[in-house]
Amino acid sequence: MAQKNIQFPKGFLWGTATAAHQIEGGNTNNNWWHFEQRPGAIKNDDSSRVACDHWNRYEKDFDLIKKLNNNAYRMSIEWSRVFPGPGVVDRKALGHYHDMIDALLKRKITPFVTLLHFSTPQWWDNGGGLLNGKEAHLQHFREFCSLMVREFRGKIVYWNTINEIDIMALGYLTKDFPPGEISMPKAFRAAANLMKMHLIAYETVKGFDPDAKVGLVHNIQGVRPDNPSSLMDRLLARFVDYLFNGAYFRALKKGKLINSLFGVYPGLRGSTDFFGLNFYNFLRVSPRLPGMVKQATDDPLCGEGGLCAGLGWEPYPEGLYLSLKRIHRELPGMPVYITENGIGTDNDNWRRQYLVDNLKMVHKAIAEGVDVRGYFHWSLMDNFEWAQGYLSRFGLVNMDFSTQKRTIKGSGKLYAEISKMNALTPDILIKYREEIYRPRF
Ligand code: BGC
Repeated sequence: MAQKNIQFPKGFLWGTATAAHQIEGGNTNNNWWHFEQRPGAIKNDDSSRVACDHWNRYEKDFDLIKKLNNNAYRMSIEWSRVFPGPGVVDRKALGHYHDMIDALLKRKITPFVTLLHFSTPQWWDNGGGLLNGKEAHLQHFREFCSLMVREFRGKIVYWNTINEIDIMALGYLTKDFPPGEISMPKAFRAAANLMKMHLIAYETVKGFDPDAKVGLVHNIQGVRPDNPSSLMDRLLARFVDYLFNGAYFRALKKGKLINSLFGVYPGLRGSTDFFGLNFYNFLRVSPRLPGMVKQATDDPLCGEGGLCAGLGWEPYPEGLYLSLKRIHRELPGMPVYITENGIGTDNDNWRRQYLVDNLKMVHKAIAEGVDVRGYFHWSLMDNFEWAQGYLSRFGLVNMDFSTQKRTIKGSGKLYAEISKMNALTPDILIKYREEIYRPRF
């Protein structure tokens, strides 16, 4: 039987996603920069000092987005650039962001802008950072959000409040994230404060621009018992799933903070106009595993230099489908944008296959009634992959960091075709029919 197009809905948004600290270069006023200065904090002692020098090369990078035939782009505005000190606005930096947004609009690319993507101003961290939930401290973030919406209303419609609260809180559970401290109570406190910051961002933006579309971005971690026939593994999987995922749905449904001991915030209920879903991989959990959680796989295909060099994350396209269905179940009728999905690998064939396999799953969810309105691949170009430095390459565009030369990869060309056709065409479906990602549960 002849293959048919897998067609996406009219007006579907096709984009890529980035974050300021990972591409701009020169962000030396935030907590990540300070964290990077610790010997051994970043693989190979890589530095974000120059990164992709996007701050100076954004026009060229936006031309690349056009070459990918994308109609949208997700980026973040660096709080520490706009506010180099408490209450101090850097008008030049602000003007620069205006130029960037104007450059996107001129190219008919819809901006999706994240207010907080991991990095926070160092001066704010000195005042307690994510552990300080006092109103006077959070007021600084409100001031930033308020300036952003007053400056950019009319230009930016789609705002993301906080990128991945659960992952930011991991700064208190792993050495790979500032402050690199291990403390479960602090991780909870950070997550609860971040949820308050989400609400501040939501209410502030909507307050000044009721027509804006504002959404939380959450990374749904697929959680699987390492051994599905073990009761202990299954119970632990339920608990970990609650911590990483269930608690956030509960917050949006019931207004309860991550750990309800820290309070109930009725405003949290429904405080998102859409669900920004980041989906990458899944965790295996078991009390027998060191640290009880395993994110990377032992599969030789996936190890260092292999399928998912650097992070070793095990791809799980079906998990993307399951996550979309779950959002639909938990928050009926909620529009969804896939705000990140991608693979850190040097092998671009794997990336192409990953892209097609994941998009098939997105389409399957749409066909079953999930209101998915856009897909943003992580990432536009290889970039500063946090503690992995430049080791893990997620880009559709290859970066030669020694010359700053950008070259569109095969996966980028494939994505350009998909975006142009708004479909997975029969040619693509035949070429990438393999579905190599069958996790071994
Ligand atoms: C983050 C990105 C990061 C990507 C790959 C996501 O959790 O939002 O900043 O680069 O994962 O690690």
